[in-house]
Amino acid sequence: MSHLGLLPFHPGKACWPPTFSASTLTPLGQPPQPPFGPGTQQIQFADDMQEFTKFPTKTGRRSLSRSISQSSTDSYSSAASYTDSSDDEVSPREKQQTNSKGSSNFCVKNIKQAEFGRREIEIAEQDMSALISLRKRAQGEKPLAGAKIVGCTHITAQTAVLIETLCALGAQCRWSACNIYSTQNEVAAALAEAGVAVFAWKGESEDDFWWCIDRCVNMDGWQANMILDDGGDLTHWVYKKYPNVFKKIRGIVEESVTGVHRLYQLSKAGKLCVPAMNVNDSVTKQKFDNLYCCRESILDGLKRTTDVMFGGKQVVVCGYGEVGKGCCAALKALGAIVYITEIDPICALQACMDGFRVVKLNEVIRQVDVVITCTGNKNVVTREHLDRMKNSCIVCNMGHSNTEIDVTSLRTPELTWERVRSQVDHVIWPDGKRVVLLAEGRLLNLSCSTVPTFVLSITATTQALALIELYNAPEGRYKQDVYLLPKKMDEYVASLHLPSFDAHLTELTDDQAKYLGLNKNGPFKPNYYRY
Ligand code: NAD
Repeated sequence: MSHLGLLPFHPGKACWPPTFSASTLTPLGQPPQPPFGPGTQQIQFADDMQEFTKFPTKTGRRSLSRSISQSSTDSYSSAASYTDSSDDEVSPREKQQTNSKGSSNFCVKNIKQAEFGRREIEIAEQDMSALISLRKRAQGEKPLAGAKIVGCTHITAQTAVLIETLCALGAQCRWSACNIYSTQNEVAAALAEAGVAVFAWKGESEDDFWWCIDRCVNMDGWQANMILDDGGDLTHWVYKKYPNVFKKIRGIVEESVTGVHRLYQLSKAGKLCVPAMNVNDSVTKQKFDNLYCCRESILDGLKRTTDVMFGGKQVVVCGYGEVGKGCCAALKALGAIVYITEIDPICALQACMDGFRVVKLNEVIRQVDVVITCTGNKNVVTREHLDRMKNSCIVCNMGHSNTEIDVTSLRTPELTWERVRSQVDHVIWPDGKRVVLLAEGRLLNLSCSTVPTFVLSITATTQALALIELYNAPEGRYKQDVYLLPKKMDEYVASLHLPSFDAHLTELTDDQAKYLGLNKNGPFKPNYYRY
C-alpha cells in the first residue's frame, strides 16, 4: 500500500487523465473498439425483449415490480452486514432521518450506523489502492467535474470506495442498490452521512427496489448525465419512465452480463440513444473477476457452509471456462481429485493438459463427493443425476443464474427438504440418502462467502475509467452503440494495480518498439490477443 500513486501509466511517462484518441487505441491504429468488431466477444441476442417493452404506468409499479430482474433478487450476502438484524421493523421509507449536516437527501436503514460503516469502507480502501491512487492523481484536475452520475450497483464497502472516488474526481452521485439483499446497511449509512444521496437497504421489497431507483433519477433541479449500472434495471427504468433524461446523458457504463446483453438488444433494435461501455467483457473483468475471484472464493463458500475437507475428495466441475479454471486450480491445490465435464473440445483439451480427467457427468456421478457447475448454461445437473448421487454429495453452482442445477425437480412430495444451516439444505430421498444443496443452486460464492476486495478494485477502477472516458470523450468519438473498453484502458487499470505487488514493468527500448511495431506506451497487444 505504500506505493499508492507512485506508478505512472508507464514508467517515466506520467499520464493523467489517460486519453484514448483513435490513433492510440491499437498498434494498427484501429478506431475505438466497435461492437461486433474483430476481436470483440459477440453477445447472443435473446428473442424476447420483454424487459424493455414493458412501460411502467402510474399504477403499473406492481406489474413492473413483477419483472424485477433475476440479478436483483439473486441472494447475495457476500459482504456480511453485521448490523442487519431487525433492529427495527419500520420501513426506511416511513422514517424521517437526517445526517449530521442536516441533510435528509437519502433513505437508508439507520443513519446511526454510519460510523461503523465508515470503518468498513476504510478497511476496503486498504485493498483498493488503484482507486485511492486515482483520487490522488486527480487532485486538482477533477476529470468528472460537472458529472452527475446516477448509479445502481451492489452497495458494499467496496462499491462505497468507488462511489467516493467518483465524488473525489468531481462527480455528484445518486445511488441505489441493484440487488434487494446485498446492501450493507452500515455502509449505506456512512455514504449518506458523507453526503451521497443513497437510497438502499438490505431486504428491500420489489416495490422498494423500484422506488429507490426512482428517487435517484427523479429529483427536482438535478438531472443525471451519466449512468453506472449493474444488471440494467436502472437503464431500463430511465428508458421507460424518463426517456427525456437521455437528452442529457453522455453515456452508460454497464458491468453485468445481463445488462450488457440488454444493451446489445437495444442497439440491435436501433433504440440505444447514447454510447454505452461494456465493462463486463473487458480483459480486466473477464480475466480477473471470473478466474481469480472464483479461485479465491470457491473454497471459502464450500467450507463456510459444509466444513468439508478437500484432500482426496472427488470433485466434478462442469465447465472449464474462466470460472471453472479458477475453481479447479483451487481444488487441485488442496489435493482434491478433480474431474471436468466440457462441451467445447478446446476447453476440454486445456483441462487435459492441466492434468484433469475429462469425463461425462454420468461416468462419475455415482462416486463424486462434490458437484460444481460453472457453465452459464441450464439443466447441466438434472434430476436423474441428482437421483444417482451418493449419500452426502455436495451440489453447488458458481455460474450466474440458478438454472444450472435443476432445483425445481427436487421440489416433489417424495423428497424432504431440511434447512440445516443458512444457505444449506439437505434434500432427503425416501431411502434416507441426503444430497447437500448449497444456496438453492444460486451463485455459491456471492451467496455464501465473501469475494476478494482486490478483485473488486480492478472492476471498480475499470468502471471509474469508463465513466471518465465517456464523460470526457469529444463529440463523435462514441456513437449510439455499445463499446468495449479501449485496450489501453485495460492496460492502465492493470498498471494501477501493479504497485500493490511491488511489480516492476520492463520498458521497451526504441529499437524493440520499432521491431514489434508498438508504441512504447502501449497498447501492447492487438484486440484479438486472448491472454
Ligand atoms: P466461459 O464461457 O468462459 O465458460 C463456461 C464453460 O462452460 C465453457 O467452456 C463452455 O464450453 C462450458 N459449457 C457450456 N455448457 C456446458 C455443459 N452443458 N456441460 C459442460 N460444459 C459446458 O464462462 P465463465 O467466464 O467461466 O463464466 C461461467 C459462468 O459463471 C457464467 O454464468 C458467468 O456469468 C458466471 N460468473 C460467476 C462468477 C462468480 O463469482 N461466481 C464470476 C464471473 C462469472
